[in-house]
Amino acid sequence: MRKLYLLAGLSLLASPLFAQKTIIHCGNLFDGLGTTLQPRMTIVVEGNKITAVQKGYSAPSGKDQVIDMKSKTVLPGLIDMHVHLESQTRRGGAIDGFTSNPADVAYRAARYAKTTLLAGFTTVRDLGGSGINVSLRNAINAGLVDGPRVLTVGKSIATTGGHADPTNGYRKDLMGDPGPEDGVINGPEDARKAVRQRYKDGSDLIKITATGGVLSNAKDGSGPQFTEEEVKAVVDAGKDYGFPVAAHAHGAEGMKRAIRAGVQTIEHGTLMDDEAIELFKKHGTYYVPTIIAGKTAADSARHFGYYPPLVVPKALAIGPKIQATFGKAYKAGVKIAFGTDAGVFIHGYNAKEFEYMVEAGMPPVEAIKAALMTNAKLLGMDTQIGSIEAGKFADIIAVGENPIQNIKTLQTVQFVMKDGKVYKQ
Ligand SMILES: [Zn+2]
Repeated sequence: MRKLYLLAGLSLLASPLFAQKTIIHCGNLFDGLGTTLQPRMTIVVEGNKITAVQKGYSAPSGKDQVIDMKSKTVLPGLIDMHVHLESQTRRGGAIDGFTSNPADVAYRAARYAKTTLLAGFTTVRDLGGSGINVSLRNAINAGLVDGPRVLTVGKSIATTGGHADPTNGYRKDLMGDPGPEDGVINGPEDARKAVRQRYKDGSDLIKITATGGVLSNAKDGSGPQFTEEEVKAVVDAGKDYGFPVAAHAHGAEGMKRAIRAGVQTIEHGTLMDDEAIELFKKHGTYYVPTIIAGKTAADSARHFGYYPPLVVPKALAIGPKIQATFGKAYKAGVKIAFGTDAGVFIHGYNAKEFEYMVEAGMPPVEAIKAALMTNAKLLGMDTQIGSIEAGKFADIIAVGENPIQNIKTLQTVQFVMKDGKVYKQ
């Protein structure tokens, strides 16, 4: 069924002579701008754009195609600010770096991208892989692979031995001494070079690992790993290329350095203290919680042999804390963006994060809007995505129930359109 529909979609896009419209009748519409559902609405799609949003069920004319979503709630395509499309957690997966060729990674990434799209996430920010994610983005944009719009950092930037040093945990003759080209820096000069290399590689933005991390094969999961001067050099070099900077941070000290140095988002933020909260607010920094990743990593660590021995105590100590941190940060007025760290858990379950955000005290409407206009603005795409308005890309999804009353309904997305093309119905 889906294949047929996909073919129909393709032929529609491929024949501009028949500039027919697609009319979507929405039982309820959450347009991403208001705070309530609008009953009985029509969205008009032409090519890859939304051209009108009308009250009532507008009648089609001529060859217009009608999509009946009268029993559904229709929303803008969701946006996830933190995924890793190149990888997916599995028992013993630490060995993958030694056994997978780039082509293996690429084929798997293509599958994960499609899974993500079919789960209703039409745009994602990929926060780090080997650089195959840049090729994946290009393949999706060229229509060769089905996936969400991808904005990617390419390879994350770390310091020697830090979280995202690609040779952590290797034996010494394999370890070598990776430098800025591989995303490993020591000092501001290296930092600038690493940012410029990312530009040359085709990245869309920059990610640094400001503190230790849970899943790297290294002892420390939370201590600072960048000097403030190094983060500042990354941020300043990034500005020359229009690159915002996302900073992975669990511990408070590394987080504070990153905020003061001007990063756009803090990822995870696990051990944020009151001083860090004040800094978030003072600098207008956004917090991307990734609660689901923390919970999943802690669960996996309880299974013997799932992670290397160095990772287990970190996952158990850090993972379960994120949800409470999120609740505290939200109540304190820290700005929240939606992001999950998909790949640390199985791709496609991204929307479970909404449930955890609501559990921790965020109203459903706010949690949903964090994954729409908030994220669109942070990506610099708020005139293109994040809401259902005339002029925006036709990134549209539908669910069976009212997500404001039942946030879990976002975990079973029933219809996905991206760029005017239907991928799931
Ligand atoms: Zn991550």
